[in-house]
Amino acid sequence: MPTTRITVAAGDGIGPEIMESTLRILDAAGADLAYDHVEVGEKVYEQGHTSGIAPESWDTIRRNRVLLKAPITTPLGGGYKSLNVTLRKSLNLFANVRPTKSYAPYVSSPHPGMNLVVVRENEEDLYAGIEHQQTQEVTQVLKLITRPGCERIVRYAFEYARAYGRRRVTCMTKDNIMKITDGLFHRVFEEVAADYPDLESDHQIIDIGAARLAAQPEQFDVIVTTNLYGDILSDIAAQIAGSVGLAGSANIGETMAMFEAVHGSAPDIAGKDVANPSGLLLAATQLLVHIGQAEIAESIKNAWLCTLESGLHTPDIYRPQLSEREVGTRAFTDAVIEHLGREPRQLTPVHYREGGISVQVAEAPRRAKQLRGVDVFLDWDADGRDPDELGRGLEAAIGAAWRLKMITNRGVKVYPEGLPETFRTDHWRCRFVPAEGDTVPFGAVLDLQRDVDRAGFEVIKTENLYLFDGEAGYSLGQGE
Ligand code: NAD
Repeated sequence: MPTTRITVAAGDGIGPEIMESTLRILDAAGADLAYDHVEVGEKVYEQGHTSGIAPESWDTIRRNRVLLKAPITTPLGGGYKSLNVTLRKSLNLFANVRPTKSYAPYVSSPHPGMNLVVVRENEEDLYAGIEHQQTQEVTQVLKLITRPGCERIVRYAFEYARAYGRRRVTCMTKDNIMKITDGLFHRVFEEVAADYPDLESDHQIIDIGAARLAAQPEQFDVIVTTNLYGDILSDIAAQIAGSVGLAGSANIGETMAMFEAVHGSAPDIAGKDVANPSGLLLAATQLLVHIGQAEIAESIKNAWLCTLESGLHTPDIYRPQLSEREVGTRAFTDAVIEHLGREPRQLTPVHYREGGISVQVAEAPRRAKQLRGVDVFLDWDADGRDPDELGRGLEAAIGAAWRLKMITNRGVKVYPEGLPETFRTDHWRCRFVPAEGDTVPFGAVLDLQRDVDRAGFEVIKTENLYLFDGEAGYSLGQGE
């Protein structure tokens, strides 16, 4: 296999020390890597680059496709952009992969049996940043869940599970409520799971799943989920593991990938030879598996586990009753190198599959699409906010082509036959369907809006209602 050239960013604070330690271990283990160094972080911000990265570094990162990054110090004050967000968005890093494990009894942990990984979708969901306020009282955000986005992340989770010898992949969504968006994620999960009969799979509703994760993390192996849930779950997992300082994480894209420690640049201990290099080192082992050097990754991880077992611990994990001796960054690094080639006795040795991880997403068959109606949203704030008054006004305003099927307020039906107790804001969804037949040309939607506008109602937006192969691509109202 040819030498893999990767980009390396030493970062700020303890970054350079832990990067030196990590590269020393990679080299001693015989990793077939060559390095191009780029500068990111504080100095680059100070030179006036608001994202913490100089324009010329992009060429190196994009050419090499794989970036090993130490933490950086984010300058305080306004005007600076997060380097991580910039890297993630610019390089299309769709998966965030965070293994969380307890190393008890050598490192104290409230959950000794915990050994899980959260695979979080990184680009879609509520993080698309599409928010609106269109009435005095109501705000909204657009939650985008795409079929290729779901398939890519779910396949990645299953491929990851295979590569790392894991047994089960758990999907978490809230598809009992969000039947279309979260429903798609769950459905794609079931489809993809069928391609991996060697792995167990299950689905849990996110609220009970998160509660179980917090109470019994030992029950989980690989968890795959959408962006927001994954954000929350990976923080819960990190918090309860008791070893954030030992955690690495990966951000994976279709062609690019970035590997880093979970912790920050720890300026309080920088330059003192006390930082624990483990987070970045474990991220580097993820890098090796990603590029197909699983055997080297295995040997480093097992040597590192032996070092924990030997009781040589950096101050952050040193406990007199658990540890043998407190050591600095360099001595810890030397110990890992000395243990190369050995397997741990108490902690479980790791075994990875050769071949790297790659994901192919198939193109989904196109389905017949048919316009079935339209939801017209109004800003309407007449005295009393009486839904019957609104309903009668709209019925008088529209032409013969349309029928007003229902009006909802915050998703609750208020017309026809609403309850007077229902709380009503100034934001109304009015669902129109064709008076005859089950489809309608788009021109009729424009006519409808014009009629509603002429009758004095303020249209703030519309959502078309489509059928896909006869299946509703919109949430049905009560009683539909
Ligand atoms: P931090 O993770 O840097 O430090 C929190 C505490 O943990 C400190 O007491 C620190 O000494 C300790 N610690 C962290 N890593 C350690 C290690 N490897 N070994 C031993 N002890 C360790 O978090 P913070 O203090 O909130 O942030 C410091 C800086 O890091 C900030 O500028 C923040 O913006 C930045 N940061 C960067 C990243 C990144 O680049 N990915 C991530 C988080 C924070």
